[in-house]
Amino acid sequence: AKEGGGKGYHFYSPEMNLKAHARMEMETNLRHALEREEFFLEFQPIVNARDGRLVGAEALLRWSDPEKGLIMPDMFIQVAEESGFIVPLGEWVLRTACRKMKDWREAGLPPFRISVNVSGRQFCQANFTDTVCSIIRETGMDPSFLALEMTETSLMVDVEATAKALMQLKELDISIVIDDFGAGYSSLGYLQKFPIDRIKIDRSFIRDLSSHANDKAIVEAIIAMAARLKLQVVAEGVETSEQLDFLKEQGCHEIQGFYFHRPLSEELFKTLLWEIKDH
Ligand code: C2E
Ligand code: CA
Ligand code: CA
Ligand code: CA
Repeated sequence: AKEGGGKGYHFYSPEMNLKAHARMEMETNLRHALEREEFFLEFQPIVNARDGRLVGAEALLRWSDPEKGLIMPDMFIQVAEESGFIVPLGEWVLRTACRKMKDWREAGLPPFRISVNVSGRQFCQANFTDTVCSIIRETGMDPSFLALEMTETSLMVDVEATAKALMQLKELDISIVIDDFGAGYSSLGYLQKFPIDRIKIDRSFIRDLSSHANDKAIVEAIIAMAARLKLQVVAEGVETSEQLDFLKEQGCHEIQGFYFHRPLSEELFKTLLWEIKDH
């Protein structure tokens, strides 16, 4: 590696080389992992705030590496996004979630909404809605049970294209959720412009609800605004009964968080669904 000049900076240091190298290695590993079927999904239930009944579940990606063991998405989603690999990977997630949903419904399990995360890079693909459309056709899943979670930032990349794509998804009867609401983009105008069904309040606001008066005010304001705009509100990251009580009091519709359920393996999730059915 090249040594820097007298000013104390380096054009590239051994450290940066390592990072770039590690990144490239990760990209290769991700590609292999998809071929070798090392990815799988967990399902975290989303419940009705009033009675705790299951209304949905979020599909969450996991990577089981034969050597390194379980790898969580925070470790690889960003690299996948930057390299573009998130496009085939995200497609795999969507297809897998739709297939499972179809199987569960056919097995007689009760209906619920399945939420799938869509990254900005994926959503920006010109053929994104076509891909969704063909996955729905191919799997035979009822699209009215499908929700796509997108962040504010990814919707704002190209407002015109977003509006068009979201309209097409609505026509398919798919619902749209704004993920990590409040954490990203600072304008709210788009809430009226786009056909959005639901906003999911970012976990960071929920986490500090009891200690930060400001977070209480923000959550209260988000829920009130959503009510005026006739949007459903989900709170994620709910871990305590205090958080739950506050959210219920404010009129939050749905809850996702460890207080009710952690992300579950497919087996455990199916057991939960059978229990619900048998009650
Ligand atoms: P996210 O979309 O905000 O997903 C929710 C994350 O919050 C999940 O982490 C979930 O396990 C965690 N969580 C839920 N309830 C609680 C709680 O009560 N307390 C705490 N501390 N955490 C809670 P996970 O599974 O590690 O996923 C992290 C992020 O990775 C996701 O954040 C999402 O941005 C991304 N991700 C996961 N799966 C996919 C995928 O299939 N596609 C894409 N593009 N991104 C994904
Ligand atoms: Ca999400
Ligand atoms: Ca989220
Ligand atoms: Ca998040």
